[in-house]
Amino acid sequence: MNTELKLNMVELPTELIKFITETEDITNQIEFEVEKEIIADEVIKEHKEKKTPLFHLQTPKIEGRLFKTAFSKVCELLPDKQDDSLSKQFNQLLAEDNQFWGQLGRKMILQQEDVIKELTIEKEIPISSLLLVLLQSLRIFLKEYSQFYQRYLEQGEWKEEKCPLCGWPPLIGHFIAGDDTFGTQNSAGAKSLFCPLCDTDWLYSRLHCSSCGEQFSKGKQNYFYVEGNDGLIVNHCSKCNSYLKILDERKLNLTSPKSPWMLYLETLHLDFLAEKRDYSSNLNLFNEKN
Ligand SMILES: [Zn+2]
Ligand SMILES: [Zn+2]
Repeated sequence: MNTELKLNMVELPTELIKFITETEDITNQIEFEVEKEIIADEVIKEHKEKKTPLFHLQTPKIEGRLFKTAFSKVCELLPDKQDDSLSKQFNQLLAEDNQFWGQLGRKMILQQEDVIKELTIEKEIPISSLLLVLLQSLRIFLKEYSQFYQRYLEQGEWKEEKCPLCGWPPLIGHFIAGDDTFGTQNSAGAKSLFCPLCDTDWLYSRLHCSSCGEQFSKGKQNYFYVEGNDGLIVNHCSKCNSYLKILDERKLNLTSPKSPWMLYLETLHLDFLAEKRDYSSNLNLFNEKN
């Protein structure tokens, strides 16, 4: 646990931290040869005008064989102690053919979380474990695509609550310190959202709910933080009752860039507090109730 940052108010399971750290490592190390296509001007125009995520208009080809390889590599990183039934269930998934994996990857981009919810019922795997492992596996590819396709995005132009490339809801948000902690270069204090699936970071209004788009009412409290740590806030919405964790980089004094996934994990105590107040997340990765 990184005490230097004083992000944590609770001890986190070291196994979970280890798992995410190692997946971050392989995500950075492995490079898959993926086919990237030029996107035509009219597709870009449609993406901007109809506010449709770019990958929904031109879906990257997910090669089932490679997605399956990524999944098996991520499974290898799971803690040894994990219960047998879970590893059996993951092995059953690995027995599926390449076509299944190709379709699953495509569906995860197009239909998103519902696909995983269906799969969790069909295969009787706890949704949080399945979602976490599948997301981490698919990220390994999509990162390569998004690095390439981000050249088609103009920061600040896309004002939606979903990722401009793949359409997933944000994992976490941050108020930019002025440097490029997550790879964006924007003016200090702007709010940016981070995609859990393709690692894209996009600017979003500070005054609107990042789930339903409702404008926060003036004079009404729309956030809370733990006393003494206002660098980490929970933005919540009175209309849709959802919340999103936001890191204020201007106050956190991060000495070096940190992975948004790591930051997400290190702030799980805020999810606990938000749920206690009856707020819910669009993307609750560690909640079996979903
Ligand atoms: Zn995305
Ligand atoms: Zn809302």
